[in-house]
Amino acid sequence: MKKVNTILIANRGEIASRVIRACKKMGITCVAVYSDADSNALFVKQADLAIHIGGSEPVKSYLDQDKIIAAAKRSGADAIHPGYGFLSENASFVKRCHDEGIIFIGPKSEAIEAMGSKSRAKELMKKSGVPIVPGYNGKDQSDATLKAEALKIGFPLLLKATAGGGGKGMRIVHEEKDILSAINSAKREAKNAFGDDELLIEKYIESGRHIEFQIFGDQHGNVIHLLERECTIQRRYQKVIEESPSPIMTSALRAKMGEAAVLAAKALNYDNAGTVEFIFDDKTERFYFLEVNTRLQVEHPVTEAITGLDLVQMQIESAQGLPLKIEQDDVKGNGYAIEARLYAEDASNNFAPVTGKVHKFEFPDIDGLRVESAIESGSEISMFYDPMIAKIIVKDSNREAAHRKLEYMLQNLVCQGTITNQAFLQTLLRHNNFRDGKYNTHFIDEHINISEINNLPEGVAEELAIAATLFGWHQREMSRKTLKSLPSGWRNSFYEYQKETFFIDEKKVTVKYRHLHKNFTFLIDEQEFEASIIDVSSNAIRLNINGLQQDYAIKCIGNNYFIHTAAIGNVQIIKEDRFPVKEKEKIPGGYESPMPSQVVKIHVSAGDKIKENDPLIVISSMKMETTIEADEDGVVEEIYVEEGTNVEAGFLLLKINKN
Ligand code: ADP
Repeated sequence: MKKVNTILIANRGEIASRVIRACKKMGITCVAVYSDADSNALFVKQADLAIHIGGSEPVKSYLDQDKIIAAAKRSGADAIHPGYGFLSENASFVKRCHDEGIIFIGPKSEAIEAMGSKSRAKELMKKSGVPIVPGYNGKDQSDATLKAEALKIGFPLLLKATAGGGGKGMRIVHEEKDILSAINSAKREAKNAFGDDELLIEKYIESGRHIEFQIFGDQHGNVIHLLERECTIQRRYQKVIEESPSPIMTSALRAKMGEAAVLAAKALNYDNAGTVEFIFDDKTERFYFLEVNTRLQVEHPVTEAITGLDLVQMQIESAQGLPLKIEQDDVKGNGYAIEARLYAEDASNNFAPVTGKVHKFEFPDIDGLRVESAIESGSEISMFYDPMIAKIIVKDSNREAAHRKLEYMLQNLVCQGTITNQAFLQTLLRHNNFRDGKYNTHFIDEHINISEINNLPEGVAEELAIAATLFGWHQREMSRKTLKSLPSGWRNSFYEYQKETFFIDEKKVTVKYRHLHKNFTFLIDEQEFEASIIDVSSNAIRLNINGLQQDYAIKCIGNNYFIHTAAIGNVQIIKEDRFPVKEKEKIPGGYESPMPSQVVKIHVSAGDKIKENDPLIVISSMKMETTIEADEDGVVEEIYVEEGTNVEAGFLLLKINKN
C-alpha cells in the first residue's frame, strides 16, 4: 500500500471544494491549482496550499499537464485528484502521473482508453454480455455503408460521434431523405469538436429514461454497484435534475441492471469510482448500455445521500491500494435524494450562459440539505468555465417530502447579481408529471413552456417598485450629510407627490409617492397603496404594504435593484435614469458580441464577399460555442478582433457593407 499524504486537485470550482473537504476529513494536505480568473475563488482559499498555474483559458492552466505535474512536484503531492471534466478522462495524463511516480486518483489508463471510443466500448460490452442498443459501429465510414446500415436499423435513428461527449455530434434522423445530410453535418460537428469524424448509428429509443449505476472497484478485483441514479430530466442531452431511487425502479429491475453494471465494470477490470449509463426503453421495458464514465460524476452526492458512503474518501483509499470495505449486500439505499443544478444561464435567451458578479448567495439552513457550491457572496462567474453555480442536494425519507423541501429551498435561495435557472428548476419541480415520476428524456421540451418561466404574476411589479423606491429613499436618507432635519425628497407640502420610474419585466412602471414620517402613500396606475418601513439593513428591507409585512432581500448596484422574496423569487428591476445617456447608436452592418466571450474562430477576412447565413465568427462563452452568421449578403469591411481576443457584451466584432 502506498500512503498518500498530500493531494493536488487538478480542477476548480465546487468539485475542488468537495475534494478539499474529503482531504481535510482524512487528515491529508490538499493543494489547489488555479488560473488567473480563479485567483479569488473559494476553493483556492479553502485549500491548504494554492499554486497559480497560468492563464484563464483551460488549455493554459487546468488542461496543461506540464504545469499540473510541476505544481504537484513543487508541493510534494503524492497523488492527484482530477475531479470531473478537464484531465479526468485523459488516459495520457494518467500514464504521465504513473511515470512521474504520482498516484492518479481514478481508474487505470486502460479502462479510460477502452471507454474513450463509443464504438469500442460497445464492442467490448457486447462481447461481455451487457445489452447494447441495436445499431452499427463498424470501421467502414463511407456514406454508402452508413446509409445502408441506417436503412437496416430503421427510423428513427440516432447518429453519434464515437469520440463524442456532452451530446455533441448527435443527430436524430426520422426519414430516409434526411440521412445523408445528417451524416455530413454530424461528421462535421464531430470533426470540429473532437478532431475525429467517426460515427456510429443506433436505434433511437423514442421514449427513454436515462438510468445510471454508480460502480466502485478496488485494485484487488472486487467490484460492486452503489445503486442507481435517474437522470432523465435533461436539456440538450445535459442533465438538469438527478434523483435516487428512480421512480420506476423495482427490486427485480435493480438487480438486473445492477448486475449488468457490474458486468460492464468487470469487463474493464475496473477500479475506483465510475458510472455505467443505460437508456431504459419505456415501451419495451428493456435497457441498454450507453457508456461508462470513468470518473466521479457531478451527481455523486445523490448516491452519497442514500447510501451514507463518502465516495471521494473511497476513491482516495482505493487509489492507495486498500481493498473495498463493503460488499454488494452491505449496500442499502435509505430514503430518497434529489439534486438540482443551479446554473448562471438565461432560460429566456435560449439558456445562454451569463457572466457577472453574484452579489449575494444565501440559502436557508434546512436539515437534509447539502449545497455544493463554487461561489460565495461577491464571487464572479467567469466566461471561461462551466456556468454551474451550485448543486443543491436534498434528502428525506420519501420522494414527496424531499421534493417539497427542494422547492422550499429554491423559493428561499437568494442569488442576486446574475440571471440563473432558479425559476426554471422551480417550474420543473411543480409539474405534475415530474411529481408523479412520469417522464422521459423529452420532458422539458414537451412539457415546460420556457417563455412563461420568468413572467411575474399580477400585482408583483407594483410591489417590487414600492420596495425599490423605499429602499432607495432610505439609502438617500442615510447618506444625506447636510440639512439633517429635512426628510429626503422633502417638499413644502405632504400633498406633493414624488416620482420614480422602473423597468420591470419589460414594462415601464411609474410610481408616485408621498409620505409623512415613515408612512407612505403610493399611487401606481391610479391604484393606491399604503406602505411603511419596519426595518432596513444594507441588503434587506422589511416593509408593511397594505397590511402585509415581509422581508425583501435587496441589493442596489447603480440603477439596478436585485430583489428577492420567497413568493417572487430573484428578480432584477432597473430604475430609469433621470438624466439618461443617449442610447448607443447601432452601427449599420456592425456585428456585436451578444455576451462576454472569447473569439475562437474567424471564418472571414476583410474584403471577402459573403452570403446571408454564412458563418462569420465563432465565439465561446462558458464552454458553449456560438456562431455569428451574416444577416444579409455583403462584403467584409473590417474585422476588429483576432482569434483569442476576449470581448465584453456589445463589443463590435466586424463590419459588413451591403452590396
Ligand atoms: P454523451 O457522451 O454525448 O453524453 P450519451 O451516449 O451518453 O452521449 O447520450 C447522452 C444522452 O442522449 C442520453 O442520456 C440519452 O438521453 C440520449 N440518448 C443516447 N443514446 C440514445 C438512443 N439510442 N436513443 C435515445 N436517446 C439516446
